Amino acid sequence: MSVDPPSGQQPPSHRSGFVAIVGRPNVGKSTLLNKLLGEKVAIVTPRPQTTRNQIKGIKTLPNAQVIFLDTPGIHRARSLLNRRMVATALKTLRDDVDGILWVIDAREGIRGEDEDIARLLRESSAETLVVLNKIDLVSKGKLLPLMERCSRLLPGAEIVPVSALQGENLELLLELIVKRLPEGPRYYPEGEVTDQTERFLAAEIVREKIFLLTRQEVPYATAVTIDEFTEKEEKSLIVIKATIHVDRESHKPILIGNRGAMLKEIGTAAREELEGILGWRLFLELFVKVDRDWTQNPGALNELGL
Ligand code: GDP
Ligand code: MG
Repeated sequence: MSVDPPSGQQPPSHRSGFVAIVGRPNVGKSTLLNKLLGEKVAIVTPRPQTTRNQIKGIKTLPNAQVIFLDTPGIHRARSLLNRRMVATALKTLRDDVDGILWVIDAREGIRGEDEDIARLLRESSAETLVVLNKIDLVSKGKLLPLMERCSRLLPGAEIVPVSALQGENLELLLELIVKRLPEGPRYYPEGEVTDQTERFLAAEIVREKIFLLTRQEVPYATAVTIDEFTEKEEKSLIVIKATIHVDRESHKPILIGNRGAMLKEIGTAAREELEGILGWRLFLELFVKVDRDWTQNPGALNELGL
């Protein structure tokens, strides 16, 4: 039986749209995305430039759907890999987005690269919210002058101080985002949180553990590919075989460690986290392979989807 709405009552409006998250590396874009979604879709590390691809995160609310685009940080690029990452970020801004979140690290304040970003944003037709992140690290007295500086850089934009890490002010932020979206349909089914496949997530989590566990210059020149991803339903087990590509012979022993200790540690950390995300037991096997100069090789970058 269908019930007609009482006459004169409008159907509740539904809003939807795409919102790009931009900002310098390491300001907390991926942390913010994960916190807004309540689920981990982007890797977070204390070092800059770890998000390489554009990652979509989907937030479905009763009356709205926001599709967030996490971008690699915008910075002055040197290597081919870095230049491609910046190109991805800039493309996001030029493509049709309905809104932009410009994330600034409140502790570090405005840098030269932020001024570059502000210039781009002033030319963009999408409305920008300025997100002053990491307010847990600064005093109120420092926040006010920074907010004034932001409003001079991007006149008319609303400024929202938050702590992505501690979840402070994120509800308000979400409310302000939704308010600015146009009316539109639900693009993705309710349970869908990201467009990334589980394979991609597995590779990213391995890469994150490499960042967190190894030091020196190794992690920047690392890529992870998934060679096998098999679900053994009868055993509720997923078998994953992955290769870590490094671009120098000298990096291999660092990743493998003393009698394989480092590789084991990376594998264990990745497995534990992935088991939590995928909800299944995991058998994870890692290999290390030297691919000379892959960070400068367009063919290799294409193959890795970069
Ligand atoms: P991205 O490069 O912009 O994506 O930055 P990430 O999300 O990877 O975060 C970079 C670092 O900043 C990580 O160590 C995060 O834990 C940290 N971080 C992110 N947001 C906050 C915050 O609100 N407060 C504090 N104290 N640290 C944060
Ligand atoms: Mg990131």
